[in-house]
Amino acid sequence: MTYITCPLCGDAASNRTPAGFNGLVMRCYSCRDYDVSGPALEKLQGLRVTERLEVLREARELAPIGTRPSITMALKARQDDGS
Ligand SMILES: [Zn+2]
Repeated sequence: MTYITCPLCGDAASNRTPAGFNGLVMRCYSCRDYDVSGPALEKLQGLRVTERLEVLREARELAPIGTRPSITMALKARQDDGS
C-alpha cells in the first residue's frame, strides 16, 4: 500500500486504487473512503480545500448506504445544478 497526499484535505492518505481504475480510490483518516476519476481530480485541483470538503460531503449524501462516496458523481451533480 502506498501513501500519497489526500487530494481533498492534503493529509497523508492510503492509495487503494485497483489496477486499471482511471483515477484514485483513497482511504484518508479525515475524509475516510472515497473515489475520484482522473478528470474529476483535475477539476478538484481548481477548488479551494473548503470547497473540496464540501464536494466530499455531497458525495456522501449521493452515495447509497454501504457504498463508497464518489467525488466524480458529486462534481457531476454540481455541474448539472448549473452551479
Ligand atoms: Zn483527506
